[in-house]
Amino acid sequence: ARQFTRPLNDLANQWNTLLSAIAGAERVFEVMDEPEESSDEQAAVELKQMDGAIAFEQVSFGYDNNRPTLNGISFKVKPGEMIALVGPTGAGKTTLIQLLSRFYDADSGRVTVDGRDIRSIKRESLRSYMAFVLQDTFLFKGTIRENIRFGRLDATDEEVEQAARLANAEPFILRMKGGYDKVLDIGGSGISQGQKQLLAIARAILANPSILVLDEATSSIDTVTEIKIQEGLERLMEGRTSFVIAHRLNTIRSADRILVLKDGRLLEQGSHDELLRQNGFYRDLYASQLRKMAL
Ligand code: ADP
Repeated sequence: ARQFTRPLNDLANQWNTLLSAIAGAERVFEVMDEPEESSDEQAAVELKQMDGAIAFEQVSFGYDNNRPTLNGISFKVKPGEMIALVGPTGAGKTTLIQLLSRFYDADSGRVTVDGRDIRSIKRESLRSYMAFVLQDTFLFKGTIRENIRFGRLDATDEEVEQAARLANAEPFILRMKGGYDKVLDIGGSGISQGQKQLLAIARAILANPSILVLDEATSSIDTVTEIKIQEGLERLMEGRTSFVIAHRLNTIRSADRILVLKDGRLLEQGSHDELLRQNGFYRDLYASQLRKMAL
């Protein structure tokens, strides 16, 4: 069980901890070292529901004191909007998501959800309204059914299968010997990267989150699976606030708004067309991306 004993110093493991919180299944991970998180304030509340309106108000944050990783970030998101986060590696995209999910709290400024400072919301409650579809899908030893059900532990078989259908995962599941009862190994050896993503989408659909975080795959996935993933993601994002750490032009173009980060600052924000007209950093990024795609 290497997955469970490795020190929690890389992001993938942090996400796994998040995922366990989402599923309300921390006990699965009791053996795992979790990062030090300050305990919730006494007055922190549980949310009874969440619309998914988000605001960052002059948020600054540094992992160490003398070097800010995020610097005066402000933006507002309406419920149901799809936001693409773009910018070079190290720009602060992941850190922004970590603040939103309260892995870390802002040094100054504040983050609000539905108008409420997220420091006044219990972490577990906040995360129970969020789901993550990441490049590296966390799969544990258990059946496919159990792995999907991890999104919501009290889901019925019918609900699990419904989520798999919406995610476009069912055809590949049914093609495998054992179908939903096929046992996967930790990490899901024997199924492809793309199939793992389809399972992650099914799991997220089952979790029915108000806020969705997607880290788009950079690795190449065959075209047919890619189309299935796109369809599944569209169904998943429908009506939810979503943040996509985006690498693909199509995704970026279809976002309601693009946040362009560089060196911890929010340089530009707007739709694809608006940003192209601004003739700024986004335009350069876009041009270099086009060149890469042409190769
Ligand atoms: P992006 O997701 O845009 O690639 P990150 O948010 O991961 O950017 O990183 C922003 C900056 O913060 C980088 O300089 C990175 O090295 C630094 N950083 C990220 N995580 C940590 C951490 N846990 N401790 C210290 N520095 C970190």
